[in-house]
Amino acid sequence: MSHSLIRRCSRLVSSCTTGNYRKILQLLPFSSTNLEEHDDPSRPGPPPIRVGITESAGRGVFATRGIGAGDLIHTAKPIVCHPSLSGIHSVCYFCLRKLGSSTCPEASGVSFCSEECKQRSKEFYDVEMKVNWTDFDDYCRTHGLKYPFLVKRLACMVISGDASIDCLDILQPANLTPEMIVKMEEGFALLRNAIANKLITNGNIDFLSKQWYLNVLARIRINAFRVDLVGGLYEDLFSSAVASVEAEAAVGNAVYILPSFYNHDCDPNAHIIWIDTADAKLKALRNVEAGEELRICYIDASMDRDARQELLLRGFGFQCKCNRCLHGD
Ligand SMILES: [Zn+2]
Ligand SMILES: [Zn+2]
Repeated sequence: MSHSLIRRCSRLVSSCTTGNYRKILQLLPFSSTNLEEHDDPSRPGPPPIRVGITESAGRGVFATRGIGAGDLIHTAKPIVCHPSLSGIHSVCYFCLRKLGSSTCPEASGVSFCSEECKQRSKEFYDVEMKVNWTDFDDYCRTHGLKYPFLVKRLACMVISGDASIDCLDILQPANLTPEMIVKMEEGFALLRNAIANKLITNGNIDFLSKQWYLNVLARIRINAFRVDLVGGLYEDLFSSAVASVEAEAAVGNAVYILPSFYNHDCDPNAHIIWIDTADAKLKALRNVEAGEELRICYIDASMDRDARQELLLRGFGFQCKCNRCLHGD
């Protein structure tokens, strides 16, 4: 996420700190708080936050006014999301909503929860359907990989014009070791071959280089959220309680822009929840004062200090210096 200074974004970020954060917010896909809606008094204004620079952790999100415990700070739509393998036949292929029993699957076996989701997927799904993914999907399955599915979808979205080549560039990338790069290269070759075999005549896959694949995956690696729905159908309550004790309870994974700007705290004042779709809701966990930094917890906060420190270092590449960690709690 955004734990160290990011040079490539420093110009954009510094413009945020001087009050011109509208620019950055205009890049962000709010579902109900678009700045364009601001002139209409019946609609909500921009969210009560600004993106700025923290003293120690690079970019961060700050409250611009007092926010009450439990208040919704803002919502965010994913840039890209994909169902988990365990959920691929039980959730909407676009929004990750749990499917009702009456949903009719597509020829490929996946389903959309509504005509709207089907329409919004149409362009990239048409691209996806032209390609034979057997080898790529097998590779992900055998190695237990979830993030290459996000790259696959993003590649189809770029080809169809649903996403820009550099849409994730604003996010911080993970540091990739040479071993990680070697492993990722196999996935790249399979993705590139699958697409090139079918679409090479289109001439619009020049972007699909190893560099692009690694760049995207490096960003997805530390910015993707596991989407766990807290809502859903009543009839699912029991099965979801059962599922949640299993290893892979998440319905999918998703990448957002603004939620990725929140720094981590083992005793956070905000959290991110999903009610019934991959649309994220950022909520305050306690009263927050104007100017205070909003932080979420990237991991399971109930773990002990050593376990948290290790997971944050290994998974996100930073040493946590939050109050809880500093006090050995
Ligand atoms: Zn849907
Ligand atoms: Zn900590």
